[in-house]
Amino acid sequence: MSPLTRRTLIAGGIASAGVTVLAPTTANAISYPFTLGVASGEPAADGFVIWTRLAPSPLNADGLGGMTSASVAVEWQVATDQRFSQIARSGTVTATQTWAHSVHVEVDGLQPGREYFYRFRAAGHISPVGRGVTAPAPGTSPALTMLFASCSHYEEGYFTAYRRMAEENPHLILHLGDYIYEGAATTTKVRKFAPGVEISGLADYRVRHAQYKTDVDLQAAHAAAPWLVVWDDHEVENNYAKLVRNDTSPAGDFKARRAAAYKAYYEHMPLRAAQAPVAENMQLYRRVRWGGLATFHMLDTRQYRDDQACGDGTKVCPEADAPARTLIGATQESWLLDGMRQKLGTWDFLGQQVFFAQKLASADGAKSMDSWDGYSANRGRLQSGWDAAGLRNTVVLTGDVHRSWAANLMANYNTQDRIVGTELVTTSVTSGGDGNAADTGLNSLNPHVKFFKNLRGYVRTVTSPTQVNVDFRFVDRVTARDYPIRTLQSYVIQAGNPGLQAP
Ligand code: FE
Ligand code: CA
Repeated sequence: MSPLTRRTLIAGGIASAGVTVLAPTTANAISYPFTLGVASGEPAADGFVIWTRLAPSPLNADGLGGMTSASVAVEWQVATDQRFSQIARSGTVTATQTWAHSVHVEVDGLQPGREYFYRFRAAGHISPVGRGVTAPAPGTSPALTMLFASCSHYEEGYFTAYRRMAEENPHLILHLGDYIYEGAATTTKVRKFAPGVEISGLADYRVRHAQYKTDVDLQAAHAAAPWLVVWDDHEVENNYAKLVRNDTSPAGDFKARRAAAYKAYYEHMPLRAAQAPVAENMQLYRRVRWGGLATFHMLDTRQYRDDQACGDGTKVCPEADAPARTLIGATQESWLLDGMRQKLGTWDFLGQQVFFAQKLASADGAKSMDSWDGYSANRGRLQSGWDAAGLRNTVVLTGDVHRSWAANLMANYNTQDRIVGTELVTTSVTSGGDGNAADTGLNSLNPHVKFFKNLRGYVRTVTSPTQVNVDFRFVDRVTARDYPIRTLQSYVIQAGNPGLQAP
């Protein structure tokens, strides 16, 4: 795959640069509609999804982006070069008000293991150029550069980490949840949410997503590589569980709120039609294969979970260890273990949200009820399931906690018996603000937990058939713009030998 230079990204932001085929057509009543950028996602060996949404006035309170009820034809092109002199695939799709004039094109017929460039044209306007990457051919295992991130609170900082991710030229980006936050605007942060209220209806979720997508750093990251996304809680409401709300404000039917939130999420993400929501339900967990190298099992840890035990929080709670409790639901659990047992690739990456390893907060056994510690039997069934199948290359990827952590997954955390997998926890993009590099988080209760850092950033992984090279990447501040990125900790995970090793 040829490298994506910084020049590519800058040029990609200029709609008219290098246009050879999609010339602007006659002007009409719609002003420039590509204010939310473009995105690709869901890579396969023969294609990927390309996304955009027409929104000439993205923050209009009605959530319709300045569009009327009229449907609009959107042309798209995928080319092998960024000047679009070699068109690989092209077509036309209809953007409708039903889906907020978003389009999700499932491009196929492409070659495996290479980069492409794509763009859209609608109502005489041409979009920025994005870069898509196809997965390698089945059975092949070229090295994969994958970045993962989580927890991007718009008010609490600038999305410099997204900008730096775009500059890394990755093949793939994972977002592990808290892509948006649902809270009301505040007056004490570096930026201010739109709309100003805690969002709960469809129009409000659409405006919040649109506000995020107007951020140029986030646009750069979406344009740079295909993404795989899964949500956590804040895409709907803090710490909700299935259809159990966290609190009673704002009032209203929570089922309707979840339906609105899921719909807006789908409308703004480069997902396939298989993920389109039906009322308050959305099939988000799915598998994405990366040749013979890796399988990404993208999990949904919100839609099917039992309510947090003992009223949530961090506490001593024997009920959390009840055998029947589930975080991902019986159907997803079977789907996950069945898929892992197929040994589709060398590495099994579990892209998911909440802290997986046991992490005791105090000697009397207090632990977080929102994480897998609140559903320990479910964690145990997964670990023993993949262990019994002889799988030695499971890497759990986690977000949610606004700190970086790294841990060995143990067959028995209390006796520290046998490493059965590895967990990498990314910090937030901005949530929590600047952080403090001097903070400490490790304690003797959790000897399998090896790394902690309270700064903002993301994780870079470079995966080959023999090892995963891991770099924890950080910016010093997010309350001021444009800080550089630097690596503060690296690990190697060896194939066949689970756990964190010194590089
Ligand atoms: Fe978060
Ligand atoms: Ca969260």
